Parts: sequence; C-alpha cells; structure tokens
Amino acid sequence: MTTKEKRFPLSLSSVVDQREAGRGDHFGRSASTQTATQNARQGANLAIRVSPAVNSEKKQAEQSAPFASPLVSDGVRRAMVARVAQQGVSDALVLAALQAIPRHMFLDSGLASQAYVDASLPIGHHQTISQPYIVGRMLEILRNGAALDKVLEIGTGCGYQAAVLSLIAKDVYSVERIKALHELAKNNLRPMRIANIRLHYGDGMLGMPQVAPFDGIILAAAGMEVPHALLMQLKIGGRLIAPVGDRHQVLQLIERVSVHDWNSTMVENCHFVPLRSGVI
Ligand code: SAH
Repeated sequence: MTTKEKRFPLSLSSVVDQREAGRGDHFGRSASTQTATQNARQGANLAIRVSPAVNSEKKQAEQSAPFASPLVSDGVRRAMVARVAQQGVSDALVLAALQAIPRHMFLDSGLASQAYVDASLPIGHHQTISQPYIVGRMLEILRNGAALDKVLEIGTGCGYQAAVLSLIAKDVYSVERIKALHELAKNNLRPMRIANIRLHYGDGMLGMPQVAPFDGIILAAAGMEVPHALLMQLKIGGRLIAPVGDRHQVLQLIERVSVHDWNSTMVENCHFVPLRSGVI
C-alpha cells in the first residue's frame, strides 16, 4: 500500500487503473435466475432516462457519472431496472442511478453475463454483490424523496451499491472489514472516477465517528441488531436502513427523532450476508 492510499479519506480520483482495457463484452448471453441463498465488465452507457419531474436530479446524476462509453449493456440494464420498478421501487432518481451504474463492471468476467439478472452474486470471500431490487428498495427508503447529503454505507463489498449511492447522495462514505474486498472496490470504482465516494477499511460496526453525523446510514450485512454506535452517528431527522436477523431477516428502518429517541419500522423480509465485527 502506498502512503497515498493509507490516507483517509481515500480519494478515488487519487489513483489510476487501466483495468477497463481488455474487458470483454458479456452481454446478450443467457442468464439464469438465482437467489441470494444459491449464491454465497466494459463499456457503460450512462444515458439516464427519467421523468421530467426529476430533470434537475437527472442532470446531477449525469454530471456525477462521467464514465460513458459505448454500450451494449444499456438495454439489458434497462430491462433489469424495469423489473426492479415492477417489484415496487418507484423513486425515479434511484431507478435512474440503477440504470446509470454498469453492474457488470463489479463482477468477475465469468459472472458478468449474469450481471443484469435480479440476483445477488458471489464476489469472493464468501460475500455477495447485493440484488438490484434490494439496493433500489433500500435506497428509496433511505432517501424518502429528499436530497441526501452525507451517507454512510457499511459493507462496501465490490463497491456496486456505493456507486449507485454516489448518484443520489452528495457524499458517500463506505466501510469494508475485509481488506481484499476494500481493495477490489477501489479497483472497480477507480475507472469510474466518481469524486464523491470515500472508501475506508475498518469495522463498520463502529461507524465513522470522525465524519459523523450522517443523514443516512445503510447496512449491506445483517446483524442481530443495529450497532449502537451507528444509531449515535445518525443526524436527528436522519434515516438508517439495515437488514436484521439471523436465518430469518427483516429490513429495519430507523429514524432518529431526537437526541435520545429513534423510531423503528420493520419493512420486509430480506436475505443478507452476516455483519461481523473486527477486520480481516
Ligand atoms: N454493498 C455491497 C454488498 C457487499 S456484501 C454491494 O454493493 O453489493 C456485504 C459486505 O459487508 C461484505 O463485503 C462484508 O465483508 C461486509 N461486512 C460485514 N460486516 C462488516 C463490518 N462490521 N464492517 C464493514 N463491512 C462489513
């Protein structure tokens, strides 16, 4: 690791990667449906299609995602977004962000053909890239129709959700406890040159007190309960969305209503990898 990389926050634009070169196109092949339990790259077309009502937000998303190149993936991704919308996600900015981020670029080339199936897929180290539907659903709940300023993500994984978040929030901080995945996310995100993501290697259960409070906190891994440190790092009026549980998991929405009060709502069943303490 270079001295530059050790600094926090790590600026993605501070590093350069040519990984894009040589990536093949993996689209148009058949993809089978998979579920989270069954499962432990190249050009991106960033044309964002949204309704006129969100034109200014669309513009913001387009400006934040300057990694356009020609694009076989556009149509398959549009179909993926349509399926997410059919399942009930209706926030146009979230759908536009899902359309804008090239999910195939976060997967191994062997799995890229399945990138636009609405399923979680392995990313190594017994972890998975989240299912597009659940990413959309959680971000819609987190945003609740309002502009998001500072957001914390626990569980960077391959960096996909952080990239989607970068189009709907002003600043994204993302923590990963597995060093190899933290590095993978850096490599995946680098060619996209997204300026508003800061990646941090550490135990997300502790949050990031040095940059708190957050308008929004999103967990991509399930604990038996939401860590207290994260509740304390939520702004008053802020929202936290997290999967909780063991074999049976539920999405929990927590809103901080005052210094000492939080409201909790159980939203729907879900399936995530476990939240674990410490770093490896
Ligand atoms: N956000 C990812 C999902 C990654 S899977 C996506 O876009 O698809 C969940 C991730 O949470 C795993 O990489 C796992 O290592 C990580 N994780 C689990 N416990 C954690 C903790 N305490 N702190 C930070 N990351 C954690």
